[in-house]
Amino acid sequence: MKTKVFSMKELTGREELDAIKECAAIIKKGGLVAFPTETVYGLGGNALDANVSKKIYAAKGRPSDNPLIVHICDMKGLYEVAEGVTDAAIQLADRFWPGPLTMILKKKSIVPDETTGGLDTVAVRMPSHKDALRLINASGVPIAAPSANSSGRPSPTMAGHVLQDLDGKIDAVIDGGAVDIGLESTIIDLSAAVPVLLRPGYITTEMIKEVVGEIERDPTLDAGVSEGMKPKAPGMMYRHYAPKGDMVIVTGNTDNVIEKINELARGHDPHETAVITTEENRHAYSGCRVVCMGTRQDEQSVARQLYSVLRRMDEYNIKYIYVESFKSDRLGDAIMNRLLKAAGHKVIHVEGRY
Ligand code: AMP
Ligand code: MG
Repeated sequence: MKTKVFSMKELTGREELDAIKECAAIIKKGGLVAFPTETVYGLGGNALDANVSKKIYAAKGRPSDNPLIVHICDMKGLYEVAEGVTDAAIQLADRFWPGPLTMILKKKSIVPDETTGGLDTVAVRMPSHKDALRLINASGVPIAAPSANSSGRPSPTMAGHVLQDLDGKIDAVIDGGAVDIGLESTIIDLSAAVPVLLRPGYITTEMIKEVVGEIERDPTLDAGVSEGMKPKAPGMMYRHYAPKGDMVIVTGNTDNVIEKINELARGHDPHETAVITTEENRHAYSGCRVVCMGTRQDEQSVARQLYSVLRRMDEYNIKYIYVESFKSDRLGDAIMNRLLKAAGHKVIHVEGRY
């Protein structure tokens, strides 16, 4: 299959609308279109068609017990797919939709089991990216869209990443440039009495608490997945976002972290070794590849670059990766969650706190 690329920045307003129409026609016919959202690029198809969901799993090489997020463009879409929409859901939608928050609710029977990985709940999100909204609206159906990467690889934050993984396997890509946030949506489970945070993201725990009061946190987010402890979001079980090399996070007092990373890096061939740092510390490392992702003054700059930096580790054939840790509050919670998963929870603690 030839994957058609629609580069929005090269199109006039009229041509953009035509491109959206063409992509919507592909979705209606049961095809797959990757599109930008404010979080990461999604791989979209008709969420109400069981065969389409199977095609999404096949294109990504994703285990079919890992449910897909259903994307909608208005509140009508929520009632179409979800049962028993709670007050908390409505309040959260009011405050954060369209935007990077996914809610888990009881599913309606119109949503096939293939889309929800056999669960009786459905994950729903209204993205804010204008191309995403236009595509869903023009398609006339809710769009199931996991991140548009091969399963296990870092999520795509630009169309080029999508093509690295899925060129020839999907019908089209809408290239809307680099995404704004760079990390997947926050997931909150509203199907039980107390809301549970299943995946941290740009919408932080504090922001959600302001709307719905106390929330719980899936214990596997911090402890990692072990015997007898299963995350409620099946996708959080898999090693994820991971470069091919061996990745280790070093945490502690900044000076001690720098010293430890330099010591560890010296133990390997410099061509096969990389340090991932931020503007603040980039000059503290030497003797191997030093890659900088944004500044700690603005954690959004780190979030935005995280996945492309992880992808670059594979392009450079890096075998040993050392990365500094981040404070686990606000956006740092989501950044650390993705780093921990990419590193398979390998962490070295040196003295002192960050
Ligand atoms: P992705 O679309 O690739 O960002 O991944 C979607 C995430 O949402 C995965 O971690 C899924 O396991 C999770 N998810 C989707 N639907 C549900 C659901 N009904 N219950 C719990 N987690 C879900
Ligand atoms: Mg994903």
